[in-house]
Amino acid sequence: MSRPKKKTMTRLPRSPRGKAGGKAGKAGGKAGRQRRASPQAGRQRPASRQTGRKVKFQVPKGTFDILPNEQNYYERVSGVTKQLVSAYGFLPINTPIFEDVQLFEKGTGATTDVIQKEMYTFKTKGGDYFVLRPEFTPSIVRAYIEHGMKSWPQPVKLYSIGPIFRHEKPQAGRFRQFHQFNLEIIGEASPINDVLLIQLVTLIFKKLGIKGFNIQVNSIGCSDCRSDYKKLLIDYYRKQRRKLCRHCRERLKLNPLRLLDCKEEKCRQLANNAPQVIDYLCEECHNHFKEVLETLDELDIPYLLNPYLVRGLDYYTRTVFEFRLEDDSLLELAGGGRYDRLIELLGGKPTPAVGVAAGIERIISVLKSQDIKIPREVPPRIFLVHLGELGRKRSLKLFEELRNKGLKVAETLSKTSIKSQLKAADKSGAKIALILGQKEALENNIIIRDMKSGVQETVSIERVVSGVKKRLKK
Ligand SMILES: [Zn+2]
Ligand SMILES: [Zn+2]
Repeated sequence: MSRPKKKTMTRLPRSPRGKAGGKAGKAGGKAGRQRRASPQAGRQRPASRQTGRKVKFQVPKGTFDILPNEQNYYERVSGVTKQLVSAYGFLPINTPIFEDVQLFEKGTGATTDVIQKEMYTFKTKGGDYFVLRPEFTPSIVRAYIEHGMKSWPQPVKLYSIGPIFRHEKPQAGRFRQFHQFNLEIIGEASPINDVLLIQLVTLIFKKLGIKGFNIQVNSIGCSDCRSDYKKLLIDYYRKQRRKLCRHCRERLKLNPLRLLDCKEEKCRQLANNAPQVIDYLCEECHNHFKEVLETLDELDIPYLLNPYLVRGLDYYTRTVFEFRLEDDSLLELAGGGRYDRLIELLGGKPTPAVGVAAGIERIISVLKSQDIKIPREVPPRIFLVHLGELGRKRSLKLFEELRNKGLKVAETLSKTSIKSQLKAADKSGAKIALILGQKEALENNIIIRDMKSGVQETVSIERVVSGVKKRLKK
């Protein structure tokens, strides 16, 4: 549901060539034969096959590598999420990253942008027609039905963290593979669940240290009250059809609710005077929404009522909500809502449910722009330094012995000069250096050096673990 913008992450790689080979290998598999199923694959053959020139492989357009120095951000976001949602009884679930195309056409909705324009579809050799998941919810609902979770104690609370795929125009500056954390509460209609999700995302953002976000809520009613409202809305917009943007004129037929959140200035002005769904809710929907707001008040969670918030997906009913940055109101960090009809639509028994998803790359971009430091792992407190070939060989053995005893050790076994090794030890912040020279290795001794004072002591290698532990306690 959340899609990161270009500006939030590293530069998008430009790779019109070479990349075609890479993508064909991944998504299309058999590029040449699958031209129809996968229009991206096989458009260009790798240059090497044509000319024998060396190909420079690059990451596929719209995707990126997560290098080691970025991993701590991902670990932090998923770590905080797992810790918090587990405490609230959410269970982890992993579903395949690809599914039957129909699951999403039916679930996410055939009239949505996601399904019409952004699906990564492919046909397999066996004739299956799959899509790389453009969101989590239909997969989770499929799993709920398939594994008979209806017979589990309700509601079933599930969470997932993983990659999502949208085949977006690269010039829109969005990513084609990105990550989300996703929470679902299936099997209970109570408004308390809608609020629980809003509260959990709030807690996650707060724990991460994110400042300046707001929560926008709305109710889009159920299929009963919404169909009356839709008629009114279509009436209103038909009269002003000529003032609408091109997209909205199309949407008017397929998905009139989306006209309310069009970003075009002229459409926004029209939306200001449009009938608001909240005035046309049936009694049950009205009461449900009232209880959502009262519970938010009870929990002191501030929110904004946004009558234009409709969300882009077909399956939402009643509560919808979004988390946005205050100083960049277009940057959506998380979004979700209730989907009381989806389980039935996908072949299950009528079952109420509510879910939320958040874009991890967007959260990371906020962590960076707000200069929020990620708590670092405690650095190793012992650094192993060697001298000479025998010292180096013994070091490798000793390293494993120390690690086995639960001591965290760093080394630069590839370096040979003692000066550069001690420099690395200093930089690592280690408290103690263990120096294993040629002489010490032959005599089964080792030098323990206090990095701060420079005081050294030679001990027998059998006593090194106890010697180190004693000094670390000081
Ligand atoms: Zn209703
Ligand atoms: Zn528009």
